[in-house]
This record gives sequence, C-alpha cells and structure tokens, in this order.
Amino acid sequence: MEAADCIIVINAGSSSIKFTLFVGPALLPSLKGKVENLYRGTTRFSAQDFQGAVVGERSWADAPLDHHAAMAFLIDFAGGHLQGLRVRGIGHRIVHGGVRYSGPQLLDDEALSYLETLAPLAPLHLPHNLAPVRAVAALAPGVPQVGCFDTAFHVGQPALAQAFALPESITSLGVRRYGFHGLSYEHIAYCLPLADPALASARVVAAHLGNGASMCAMAGGRSVASSMGFTAIDGLPMGTRCGALDPGVVLYLVDQLGMDVAAVQKLLYQESGLLGVSGISPDMRTLEASADPRAQLAIDLFTYRAGRELGSLAAALGGLDALVFSGGIGENSARVRAAICRDAAWLGVELDATLNAAAGSARAEAGGAFRISTAESRVAAWVVPANEELMIARHTLARLESHA
Ligand code: ADP
Repeated sequence: MEAADCIIVINAGSSSIKFTLFVGPALLPSLKGKVENLYRGTTRFSAQDFQGAVVGERSWADAPLDHHAAMAFLIDFAGGHLQGLRVRGIGHRIVHGGVRYSGPQLLDDEALSYLETLAPLAPLHLPHNLAPVRAVAALAPGVPQVGCFDTAFHVGQPALAQAFALPESITSLGVRRYGFHGLSYEHIAYCLPLADPALASARVVAAHLGNGASMCAMAGGRSVASSMGFTAIDGLPMGTRCGALDPGVVLYLVDQLGMDVAAVQKLLYQESGLLGVSGISPDMRTLEASADPRAQLAIDLFTYRAGRELGSLAAALGGLDALVFSGGIGENSARVRAAICRDAAWLGVELDATLNAAAGSARAEAGGAFRISTAESRVAAWVVPANEELMIARHTLARLESHA
C-alpha cells in the first residue's frame, strides 16, 4: 500500500449505501458519504471530508436509484474526487459468511456464488450487501473486492453455543446460531488490550447497542457466545426488532390471529422493540427526552433485558472481568449505561458516575476507549466507539497484501 493508494469501504443496506475512503498505509479516513432512499421517492447523496466540509450533494427527485445505479454514480463521483489516488481495493460489509468464511474473503465469482446460496439465511440483508459487489464487478472489473462478514468473528464459538435444541434434519440445513455485529466486536477486541494490556486475556462481555443491538461474550479476544442467533432479530430488544421471543408467540400470531409470513415479519422486525413498546419512537434519544411513561417502559425493558443477557453471557464465560459499551446508544447514553451497570452490581461492576457522564465528550476528544468504572471496581467498564469501517479497511488491506 503506497501513500497514494486508498481503500474504499462499502456498507450497503436495503435502502442505502454508505462509503468511507481510507488513504495510505496508515488508513487515514479522508472522505465518507452515503446514497440513501434507494428504490423510493427521492434518492439523496451526500459526502463530507473528515473535517466536516461537504464535498458532494445530489438528489434524484421522484426518480429513485437502485443499488446498481447508485454504485455507478459513486464510481463516477470517486473518479472525480480521488485526486490522483489509486483504488487498491473495495471492502464490503456483508452480514453472513455462513460456516465457510471465518475471515475476510476475496469476492471472486466462486465466492459470490457461494454467498448467494446463503440468501435464505439472511433474506433481508444479504442480497442488498451483494448487489454493490455485482455492480462493481460489472462496472469496474479490475478493482479487487473483499468481503468482511458480521458472522466471521463468531465462527469459532464452541459447538454448544451455536446449537439449537432441534432435530438434526433441521440443524443440518444450517439452522443454528451464527451471531452478528462481529466486525464491531472484533474492533473492541482489538482496542481493549491497547487501552489496558491486562485485558488481553480477560473475560469480556461487549454490548453493541445501536438501532440493532446485541451482546457478545469474549474470552481472550475470541467470541464464545452471542445474543444474536440464527438471524439478527434474536437477543436484546432493538429499535424496531423484538429480540428474544418465545416461539409460541409466532405460532399464536399465525394460528390465532391469522397473520401470514409477511405480516409476522413486519411486526417482529419493523414494529416491535423500542418503537413497539413505547408506541412513540425507535430512537433512544427521543425516548429519553419524553415524559411519557410508555417511553420509560421501553427504556426499562431494554436495560432489563440487557442485564439478563449479561448474566447469561457471564455464565458462558464462567465469570466477568470487563463490560464494554459500543454503538450509538452504548457510546452516547450515560443513562442506559448507568442502568445496565446498576443491575450488574452483583457481578462486581461499580460505575464511576462522573466518568460515565463524561464519556460522550471524552470520546469525541480522544476518539478511543474510555474507562467508566471506579478504580476499585472488580469488573472494569469501558466505552469503545464502534468503528466497523476501519476494521473492514484493515481486513481488506491485509487480504489484498497476502494475496499479492
Ligand atoms: P445503527 O445500528 O443504525 O448503526 P447507531 O449505532 O447509530 O445505529 O445507534 C442509533 C441509536 O443511538 C438510536 O437509538 C439513537 O437514538 C441512539 N443515540 C445516539 N445518540 C444518542 C444520545 N446522545 N443519547 C441517547 N441515545 C443516542
């Protein structure tokens, strides 16, 4: 990787494509942006440099773009803004790598064909992650592409942590726990020993709390159990997803309420979680600002379930040395962190209220891990800002260099 080389990281969802440009061997972030509102209404594009200056803006009124057209636009935009930089490769965030991929993977035709067979395991995410890969392969075939998987970090979990108590005829179809948010957990596993070397071999539970939310038990930086399972709906309640649910509820919805698959899917993925319980909003900031008791109930259920999940993951680890918060809520909500730590007092977590209140602004200054527990706390509590993009850029560079 030369000083004039760059890596582009793509994070594509059902209605948006986000990108970040990393430059030179130190992978300095220099440009980021997104195309949003794909497929409906007015598609919008914006890009900023890392000083916050807007470097590009455009919208397509009532002529929405699809993934392919959005990538064509982005390739064109990049061509005009790279100022002599050479694109060394593109790294993609991909939700599922199945049982085959436990690390980053060059996305050649064979890999893409395998990943397409996994679509039934993640129908709401995987096709959208892969669409930009296909688009780049068609529009800029010389550019190497690397897939980084949200499941990869969890591939080495013990077999028991991955199993459902279902017959072999079902598990053999791939119905097992995979775990997600792996790139965020891997980033935490990377940052934590840098912040405190004593944590390199620690038993850690990390909580990635954003619109999607999950928790992961890590021993010595390796995943041993996670709250998300077969899909990214299990575990904690989220912005609009219900989290762990008695499967009997699904049978009731179908059998007694006559709901079909699409209706159940919409209810559990888009109408539940913080939004469903509060009836107000999926957004933690809005709920924290609300005086409505239903908003309080939604926050209480969120932190209660996080406390229960923490107990379960600490059991999988046989104890706990550190608790880490990440994601939009985990990094910014002192109130949610305080509630979860209060419920975890029995495990030995003792929060420093002043450090906890300062974590948000301190994060902005330091940009790194920030301890929020007291010096005496038996279990250390930390905030580590999520940076999946940097993790993908590092993986992409390493994969390309090992292949060169
Ligand atoms: P995603 O999973 O989509 O990447 P984020 O990690 O950006 O989501 O997290 C979004 C969540 O973070 C929202 O619920 C938002 O309200 C919450 N959040 C962001 N800033 C704050 C804040 N200052 N206080 C409380 N919650 C916040």
